[in-house]
Amino acid sequence: MERQILKARWVFPVEGPPLERAIVEVEGSRIAAVYAGDHPRAMDLGNTALIPGLVNAHTHLEFSHLRHPLAPAAPFTDWIRSIMQSRFESSVSVEQRILEGIKESLEAGTTCLGEIATSDESLQLLQQAKSAPHAVVFRECLGFSAGRIAEQERIAADFLEHLPVQEDLFRIHPGLSPHAPYSVHPDLYLKLIQLARDQGSPVAVHLAETRAELELLEHKQGPFAELLTELGLWDPQILSDGVRMYDYLAPLSELTSALAIHGNYFGETEIEFLQQSPQISVVYCPRTHHYFGHPPHPWLEMIRHGINIAIGTDSRASNPDLNLWNELLFLREKFPAVSTELILECGTLAGARALEMSEELGSLAVGKRADMALIQLPDLSDRLSSSDLLLNSRSHVSRVMMNGGWIN
Ligand SMILES: [Zn+2]
Repeated sequence: MERQILKARWVFPVEGPPLERAIVEVEGSRIAAVYAGDHPRAMDLGNTALIPGLVNAHTHLEFSHLRHPLAPAAPFTDWIRSIMQSRFESSVSVEQRILEGIKESLEAGTTCLGEIATSDESLQLLQQAKSAPHAVVFRECLGFSAGRIAEQERIAADFLEHLPVQEDLFRIHPGLSPHAPYSVHPDLYLKLIQLARDQGSPVAVHLAETRAELELLEHKQGPFAELLTELGLWDPQILSDGVRMYDYLAPLSELTSALAIHGNYFGETEIEFLQQSPQISVVYCPRTHHYFGHPPHPWLEMIRHGINIAIGTDSRASNPDLNLWNELLFLREKFPAVSTELILECGTLAGARALEMSEELGSLAVGKRADMALIQLPDLSDRLSSSDLLLNSRSHVSRVMMNGGWIN
């Protein structure tokens, strides 16, 4: 196969500084060389930047048919009521919703997903699709009452029977997602983590998303106790006295890889613990976080402590789209002092690390998969630095390459 020699105005390898007027050489499905300079056979991609394919570390594809986030955004428990209702109302099949989400993700430059699934469907659809992002599919388990434990354990064990696919062109791994402390019995939570540990599988859990969640654990009251009562599931004995958010975080350190989704209200204790637990990543979902009106997320403090921060869109139930590029533009606007390189790393390499795929993807490094997004930059005449050019409201993802082949 002939080597593809791609020339762009900028190349952002993520590992290493941005390169101006640079070349990426692709041999088969892999990156063969990355350097500043020219090549006589180069295909000139014009006023563009090449970046690694984006990694959306947290989404739920089954809500991809929603045109608008669900209301109300507050209180959070009312949003949960809306999402439970929406499961019954939609006329769009789950398959159709997931396919829409796969398509939207790819077009937005996302070549790797952390997907939360309530059935086997997304795993199968991702495997069967002609082109689809690499993925870790976490099977969601729900059950606050003791009566659900055995059934959920069985579902989880069955799901982990799906063997990881690790082919030349495609990677897909199964994992587990005990949903959240307010929706999973503490015993079930520990059993699922034990199961994942025994199988060497990754886990993703929604943790410390709201203050109400902390109130439930610490005082056994508040909006979640009310919601669980309404659903006929509330029994204050289920949560032992003195249980804290830390008690949900600590078991995750026994896994080879775990994602603490959101962590909006992680405090000093949790941050200190995460600092000593490099196998746990935190996934910050910027626009979803904004939609719910939380106080500022501690992501920058966490990064200063050496914690791996990946970026997710979460689902279309709390976000207008699944476009990770828009997520990065949002961060640029909200955090003008943060470097473009750091924001880009969170949306690429950090996500790949969180999903245990960083040896294969997440940066433009020789030997890694040639998964890239091509970014159309603002006019050549703009005298902007590489950083200001890349995460610019006038920049957009124009093409996507997976495994060395353009998919659009
Ligand atoms: Zn979520």
